[in-house]
Amino acid sequence: MTKYDGFNYDRDREIYSAARVRALESLLIEKGIISGETVDKVLNYFETEMGPFNGAKIVAKAWTDPEFKAQLLEDCNAAVSNIGLPVGMSGAEGEHMKVVENTAEVHNIVICTLCSCYPWPTLGLPPYWFKDPTFRARAAREPRAVLTEFGVDLPESTTISLWDSSAQIRWFVLPQRPEGTEGMSEEELAALVTPEAMMGVALVPSPSA
Ligand code: FE
Repeated sequence: MTKYDGFNYDRDREIYSAARVRALESLLIEKGIISGETVDKVLNYFETEMGPFNGAKIVAKAWTDPEFKAQLLEDCNAAVSNIGLPVGMSGAEGEHMKVVENTAEVHNIVICTLCSCYPWPTLGLPPYWFKDPTFRARAAREPRAVLTEFGVDLPESTTISLWDSSAQIRWFVLPQRPEGTEGMSEEELAALVTPEAMMGVALVPSPSA
């Protein structure tokens, strides 16, 4: 849930893309390249198997298991293969995922300056604004201002680091564990973690806040 609303998109911004997608889909079906169920299968895959619930599970595990966290930061793909996530986790745009840790000293943001590279298996499909040229340019040029617009006000002493995802490496953020979560189970912790927090444009709120 992002507070960001600074791009002022038209309400019907998706209409033209949706029409193009429908036209392409019917053409592909007509030519026998895909079946009527293919698109539904792909959508279902990203709703039930590959999505931000995987990233949240990884973050919660890292918050509660220092050994796992160390491995995650060292070799993300090896670490996630050890905790029972779906087979194929390293496929679907997740072949080379890397994780950076937010601390009191360093806050990380992930963008793709070139297009919209994103770790689908752990964060799902990227939101609309992640692909927006204005967001991509401004996040690189004035990350602190963009963070403020997202509702993230960091002390001047916090260094902001930007990570540019690409076809070679797709980054995501290990957010800071919020105060007041001592004694919470991994499942309870995972429920606090949003995709935005794993992109570095939000903090994970304390459950008591
Ligand atoms: Fe890209």
